[in-house]
Amino acid sequence: MKKMIQDHATGIGLSLFGVAPPDRFAGLPASVHPASILPEVRSILVVGKEIPRGDYRGVEEGTLWTFASKHLEQLLLLDMVRYIEQQSGYEAVPYMAHPAKTTPLSRPVSPDRPLPNVTLHLEYAAVAAGLGEISLIGQLLTPRFGSRNALGIILTELELEPDPLYSGSLCDHAACGKCAAICPAGAINPNKTVTLNIGGRLTELAEVNYHLCRMCPNGAAPDFINKAGQEELMLAFTGNQPDVVETSTVLTRRNVPNIANAVCSRTCLAYLEHAERLQHRYVEPFRDTEPWLLDTWER
Ligand code: SF4
Ligand code: SF4
Repeated sequence: MKKMIQDHATGIGLSLFGVAPPDRFAGLPASVHPASILPEVRSILVVGKEIPRGDYRGVEEGTLWTFASKHLEQLLLLDMVRYIEQQSGYEAVPYMAHPAKTTPLSRPVSPDRPLPNVTLHLEYAAVAAGLGEISLIGQLLTPRFGSRNALGIILTELELEPDPLYSGSLCDHAACGKCAAICPAGAINPNKTVTLNIGGRLTELAEVNYHLCRMCPNGAAPDFINKAGQEELMLAFTGNQPDVVETSTVLTRRNVPNIANAVCSRTCLAYLEHAERLQHRYVEPFRDTEPWLLDTWER
């Protein structure tokens, strides 16, 4: 069954596919836990595909402002859900990139349930499903595409064999530090980090001052499509990370802007390609000149 589902994913153009068991989410608060949405969940699937490198070109040149959404198109996610339900007879729930932003309620429907909407954390789920790792600046890195990933989550009652956690290493952390060094605002502090444990895989995150990122003129976007995935960036981790107590702005700020196209993330992309760390190669390098940079006051 898993092979059939994965083949279907491949057939509709999804090149990222991983399965996490529920126990890799153990200890997360109900407000961000998959079982709050599907109590009988036995498998958490993370599917996705690459964001084209061309989506970063306009900002890299400073001539066309775009932003790279980390969310997979809904139609592809629904296609997968239909296939799983039709083939297996088990329910499958798409975790929508754009859940209803408002509910008629300002309280839980009953005292034993969390407030709607429960939000799931894409990066956490992707690491739990073995797709890659989270970088120093909080972005999912996969061995094929680096940070260029658009993802969706499917919760299902169908039990599928879990994928092993990713055992490689992509982000070079302190040995690289190029994302921090290039930021004109000095928003990334690579010397102040917090270590997260996702299903046994340790992840080191730098403190990022997102107050500065919100004012960043170097490609960060007030990306409200991204917001649903960003809010839980802080909430998701704190519940099962006893050592993490709001020591990092990565974990404690809401309304985080989308920094995928900002110069910090584009520098990471250029670095990983230059170091030949990624499986998906291009004929021409992403960057062959120094990037343009503006100070925050120039916005
Ligand atoms: S530039 Fe990329 S690889 Fe280097 S430390 Fe930053 S996130 Fe890691
Ligand atoms: S988004 Fe802008 S301000 Fe924030 S870390 Fe990246 S370059 Fe610096």
